[in-house]
Amino acid sequence: MAETIFTKILSGDIPCHKVYEDDHVLAFLDIGPLSEGHTLVIPKRPAETLDQLSDEASAAIGRVLPRICRAVKKVTGVAQYNLLQNNGPLAHQAVFHVHFHIIPKPDAEQGLEVAWPAGKLDGEAGQALAADLRAAIAG
Ligand code: 5GP
Repeated sequence: MAETIFTKILSGDIPCHKVYEDDHVLAFLDIGPLSEGHTLVIPKRPAETLDQLSDEASAAIGRVLPRICRAVKKVTGVAQYNLLQNNGPLAHQAVFHVHFHIIPKPDAEQGLEVAWPAGKLDGEAGQALAADLRAAIAG
């Protein structure tokens, strides 16, 4: 996998404001925060997108995400927040090393803004699609 700005942060070549670290996970403040406390949580072993992440790395992130969210809430005093995880350029991924954003939402202006152009799920198509997905997950 190509080197990214996050591998340089992991190797210490680029500094960061570290929030949390263990054997598998690093969390640090985002350099371009959408709101105060905007934190990035990344696996130490590089993977471009979430679907490429190992079970071990994803479990390690899942174990600490709620704890880091609690710390962000406590320190910022902001109770509401978004968890964002972008995969691919069309999905707004700019750094191709898996990362989760924790973004406090203090008010309508600050934090993440989400467009949500909801469609309507057709019953028959939904049945077929869910069956295909179950088969794909079963492998
Ligand atoms: P993406 O759009 O890929 O989901 O988000 C990448 C995030 O990485 C952006 O929010 C951006 O501000 C952050 N970022 C990019 N370069 C650096 C950096 O050098 N240091 C830190 N701390 N964050 C960075």
